[in-house]
Amino acid sequence: MAGIYIHVPFCKQACSYCDFYFVTKTDLMDAFVQALLIEIKHWENHSLFSEGAETIYFGGGTPSRLEPKHWQLIFDSLQAFITSKTREITVEVNPDDVTIESMQVLKALGVTRLSMGVQTFDESRLHFMHRAHSKTQAIQAIEIIQKTGFKSFTVDLIYGNPNQTLADLNADIDQFLTFDLPHISAYSLTIEPRTRLGKAEEKGTLIPLQDDAVSEHFLLVRERLTQAGFEAYEVSNFAKLGHRSFHNSNYWKHIDYIGMGAGAHSFVWLDGKTARRWNHAPDLKAYVNNPLQQTDIQTLELSELAEERLLIGLRTKDGLEFDELKNRYQFSFSEEQLHFIQQLQEQGLVQPHPEKIVLTDSGLLLADHLVLELITK
Ligand code: SF4
Repeated sequence: MAGIYIHVPFCKQACSYCDFYFVTKTDLMDAFVQALLIEIKHWENHSLFSEGAETIYFGGGTPSRLEPKHWQLIFDSLQAFITSKTREITVEVNPDDVTIESMQVLKALGVTRLSMGVQTFDESRLHFMHRAHSKTQAIQAIEIIQKTGFKSFTVDLIYGNPNQTLADLNADIDQFLTFDLPHISAYSLTIEPRTRLGKAEEKGTLIPLQDDAVSEHFLLVRERLTQAGFEAYEVSNFAKLGHRSFHNSNYWKHIDYIGMGAGAHSFVWLDGKTARRWNHAPDLKAYVNNPLQQTDIQTLELSELAEERLLIGLRTKDGLEFDELKNRYQFSFSEEQLHFIQQLQEQGLVQPHPEKIVLTDSGLLLADHLVLELITK
């Protein structure tokens, strides 16, 4: 079964590190929703959704900027995709939008999971990230989510900030762990060129944390969260039992999904040997004028897909089965690559396993680099 991703491109303000597509004006919000309804309708009878959508994910931007009337319209139109086989409906929210009323609206419509960007409980770092919420709002939002009865939700944490010490990070993790959270996504701060932080780095007014220190942060997060009972099922994702994200896990496994909304991406297998990926332009006006327009259409061959699958699969706890690579991607490692994997095992970067390739904790630190080395052998 395929999934649906809906990109809601509205944010209250621009976080200093963010290079996702969003706008801060809301004058086109009604028009966006009308365009989205057209797009949802367009896919209603497509064979990809003959049994409904397995997962539906509202990302952004900040979907929680939408008003109750918008949610009602969107969910009315999504009914054709929501079946007994739909496993997960997720909405990204920000703490400053979380109220008892707004959460009750989502719960009543059938949303099963929330994803909330908290990032830190430290006021000065919230300010540095230009987040729209305070520490108190983040705490209250988690309490409201729990009170409203959402059993599954994730909270984001960002580490590796300039000048952030291990003691600072420990204090943040302590605060995260005071709540009974089912899932945490922890990302290291990436400084992207077109962002406020990117420009500060370019001017020399911001010095990023050194790589060694970021690695120490990564290992600390991993150690503390696994000790607290979370399963580190992907480099950035930690779940209590039964709370892995189906939607994200499906992305990593190359399961078909249709992306709707301005700036959304889609991925669909064509014939088992090639797949197609396309985007909606990150341009709200263009989307409102033509919600079915596709750009950057790419056809991907099995060899490219195998490389992608390696790149993503090796970031997961489950790793990648040799059989899957062979049967689905017609890919087998060459003698040289097998020799390289053997060397990585001897260095403690790959776990010894007869049927699959799985990185160790030290290997995960270098995951992207190791996979690039592996595929260019
Ligand atoms: S709220 Fe999320 S999408 Fe919006 S600017 Fe901040 S990080 Fe980016």
